Amino acid sequence: MYSRKHVLVTGGAGFLGSHLCERLLAAGDEVICVDNFFTGTKDNIAAFRDHPHFEVVRHDVTFPLYVEVDEIYNLACPASPVHYQFDPVQTTKTSVHGAINMLGLAKRVRAKIFQASTSEVYGDPEVHPQTEDYKGHVNTLGPRACYDEGKRCAETLFFDYYRQHALRIRVARIFNTYGPRMHPDDGRVVSNFIVQALKNEPITLYGDGGQTRAFCYVDDLIEGAMRLMAAPDEVTGPVNLGNPHELSIRELADTVIEITGSKSKIEHRPLPTDDPVQRCPDISLARKVLKWEPKVPLKEGLGRTVAYFDELLKGGA
Ligand code: NAD
Ligand code: UDP
Repeated sequence: MYSRKHVLVTGGAGFLGSHLCERLLAAGDEVICVDNFFTGTKDNIAAFRDHPHFEVVRHDVTFPLYVEVDEIYNLACPASPVHYQFDPVQTTKTSVHGAINMLGLAKRVRAKIFQASTSEVYGDPEVHPQTEDYKGHVNTLGPRACYDEGKRCAETLFFDYYRQHALRIRVARIFNTYGPRMHPDDGRVVSNFIVQALKNEPITLYGDGGQTRAFCYVDDLIEGAMRLMAAPDEVTGPVNLGNPHELSIRELADTVIEITGSKSKIEHRPLPTDDPVQRCPDISLARKVLKWEPKVPLKEGLGRTVAYFDELLKGGA
């Protein structure tokens, strides 16, 4: 007889998924990691691959899956603009068909299911900071829409399964998160700037760098996600999870140069289409219902991330 929980993590070999698998194993759960390795890697899960309670399945969530589990964390989906725009049709399929397949599985085995939604559902927001009741400002036709609209549709599916089939759902709107195991070439700003700084190459600042973001360290984010899963069933979300410390991308570039002691100079590049001008979570709801807020300050989190990329570039990580 088992008493430990059986937990499925889709996208478990990715950046956030691998940290989540590791934390679930440490908490004593049985973990099944499902991934098609589009952006995830075996290196991300190497540290716990041989753990007796860990199992990896190569599978694309756009196809149905049958496993017996108690909880599902649905994280499968490329998250960086470069990766999700590489094959936009597959991105929408991953969000929408993936959600349908995982919700169908949850319904069949009566599992609780968590959706990794995103601040991108707010698009280029006219409300600042973003609260969960803000409906968003998304361009349905632009290059980011495959991701934004896919994630919006997935939220719709989650709430329809909740109302129609009384499924136990948890929807987190995750804001920019960073840390070790980010893909060095995925084009996201933190990994780009750190890798460029460590190589003393130009820091590619898009636009004038006045656009803002708020960056959450991965350990804080995973803690928030696990608290949401463990919360009472009436806490369905959507709940914003992110760090409300907002800064301009120019300030981020300066901070990375300072921390790495790099000789890199800033080089301006065109701002990508539909790049949101400002983004910052209002986390009042998470504070209230999850008793959660981020703990790791930006410079400390960046320091740990720099150490990871430094090792990686030396071929050690
Ligand atoms: P990531 O690209 O590192 O991880 C995504 C994982 O999903 C990868 O391992 C990839 O191989 C896998 N995957 C992609 N398509 C798949 C498919 N069809 N079938 C099975 N596996 C598939 O990205 P991440 O940063 O770890 O993001 C994880 C989740 O969190 C995503 O759903 C993303 O939208 C969400 N999210 C992340 C952030 C962030 O800042 N990191 C912000 C908001 C939302
Ligand atoms: N950005 C940048 N240089 C880079 C990569 C990104 O200036 O090399 C900017 C990008 O234009 C955006 C911000 O940094 O304004 C965050 O970009 P990212 O792709 O990390 O995430 P998202 O736009 O999805 O928040």
